[in-house]
Amino acid sequence: MGLDFDEGDELRDLRAAVADLASRYGHAWYLEQARTGGSVQALWDEAGAAGFLGVNLPEEHGGGGRGMVELSIVLEELGAAGCPLLMMVVSPAICGTVIARYGTPEQRDRWLPGIADGQLTMAFAITEPDAGSNSHAITTVARRDGDEWVLSGQKVWISGVDVADAVLVVAKLADAGTGTLRPALFVVPTDAPGLSRTVIPMELVSPDHQFQLFLDDVRLPADALVGSPEAGIAQLFAGLNPERVMGAAYSLGTARLALAKAADHARERRVWGTPIGAHQGISHPLAAAQVEVELARLMTLKAAWLIDTGQDAGSAANSAKYAAAEAVVHAVDAAVQTHGGSGLSQETGIGALITSSRFSRIAPVSREMILNFVAQHDLRLPRSY
Ligand SMILES: Cc1cc2nc3c(=O)[nH]c(=O)nc-3n(C[C@H](O)[C@H](O)[C@H](O)COP(=O)(O)OP(=O)(O)OC[C@H]3O[C@@H](n4cnc5c(N)ncnc54)[C@H](O)[C@@H]3O)c2cc1C
Repeated sequence: MGLDFDEGDELRDLRAAVADLASRYGHAWYLEQARTGGSVQALWDEAGAAGFLGVNLPEEHGGGGRGMVELSIVLEELGAAGCPLLMMVVSPAICGTVIARYGTPEQRDRWLPGIADGQLTMAFAITEPDAGSNSHAITTVARRDGDEWVLSGQKVWISGVDVADAVLVVAKLADAGTGTLRPALFVVPTDAPGLSRTVIPMELVSPDHQFQLFLDDVRLPADALVGSPEAGIAQLFAGLNPERVMGAAYSLGTARLALAKAADHARERRVWGTPIGAHQGISHPLAAAQVEVELARLMTLKAAWLIDTGQDAGSAANSAKYAAAEAVVHAVDAAVQTHGGSGLSQETGIGALITSSRFSRIAPVSREMILNFVAQHDLRLPRSY
C-alpha cells in the first residue's frame, strides 16, 4: 500500500465537530477572557464532555482510544477558531501520555479519567530559573524520608498552575545503587503544603497564566512518584514528543487564524480601486506563509503518526515544531502588515497574535535547541554545547 494523504471521514468529522464547538466561542470571546481576567473553563469543560480533550487516552480510562494525530487536530482546530486551549499541550498530551504509559494501575485509575474528560487538569513543571533550556542542570531534588518523598526546588514559566489540580514535577532523585542524581516525575497536588506560586506578568494576551513555583520541603506520599524510580528518563522522552507535536498544532491553528483574517481583509479592503490583495506586496507574503503552514502541517501529522505507531518521532516532532513556529511567526507578521493600522487595533485581535506567535519560537523548546538536535542527530554534526 502506498502513501495516503487523505485524512478520511473520521478525522474530517473530528475536525468539523471541534470547529463547530469552537465557533460558538471564537477569537473575540477568547480575547475578552484574556483582557477581563476571565477563563477558558467553559470551553474546556465542553471540549472535555465531548471527548475531545482525552481523545488520545486509553478507552479503559475514559479516553477516546485514539492518539496524537487526533489530539493535535483538536488543538489545531480550536486555534484556527481563535480559542486555543494551551493546557491541552500539558494535561492530556504530556501528563496523560506519561501516566498512561508508565503510571501504576492505581495512578492510571486516579488521574486518567479526569484528565480525559477535563474534570482534572495537570500542569507540567520542568523549567527552572538557573537551568532553562539545559534541563540536565535542574536542581529540584526529591529525597526519601520514611514512607514519604520530600521535594525542594524552584520552577519557572509553568503554565496553568492556577487551574490545575496537580503538577507533574520533574525532580532529581538519588539512584539507590550509585547515588547519582537522575530525573524522576512526581505528581504534586497544587494544594500540597510547602508548594507556593507567584504569577509572572506576561505580555501575552491570553487567559492562561505562567507561574514561578517554590517547592519548600513538599511532603508527598510514596505513590506520588510516577511508575518506578528507574523510568524517569524514559517517561520524560515519552512526554516530550507529544509536547512538541502539540506545540506545533497550537502554532498551526494560530497561523490559520491569522491567514484567514488577513485574506478576508485583503479581499475587501480597497485603497487604490482594487482590493489590496491584488498587490503582490500583500498577497505574496500571505501565500508564502500559507505554503509554510501546509508543509508544517504535513510534518506535524507525520510526527503524530510516528508517535501513535510506536516509532521514533524525535526528528519529526522537532522538525514539525520548528516549521510550525516559523510558519506562525511569518503568517502573523504578514497578517499585521495586511491590516495596516487595524493590525494593531484591539478590534481585529491581530496584534494580540504577535506575542503568542513569538512564544511559539521559544516554548516548549526553542528554535535554537531544535536546530541543535537536528544538526546533531539528523546531520551527525558535533554536539555544539
Ligand atoms: C508562555 C510560556 C509557557 C511555558 N510553559 C511552561 C510549562 O508549562 N512548563 C515548563 O516546564 N516550562 C514552560 N515554559 C518554559 C519554556 O519551555 C522555556 O522558556 C524554554 O524551554 C526556554 O528556556 P528559557 O526561557 O530558560 O531560555 P534560555 O534557556 O535561557 O535560552 C535563552 C535563549 O538562548 C538560546 N540557547 C540556550 N541554549 C542554547 C544552546 N545550547 N545553543 C543555542 N542557543 C541556545 C535559546 O534558544 C533562547 O533563544 C514556558 C515558557 C513560556 C514563554
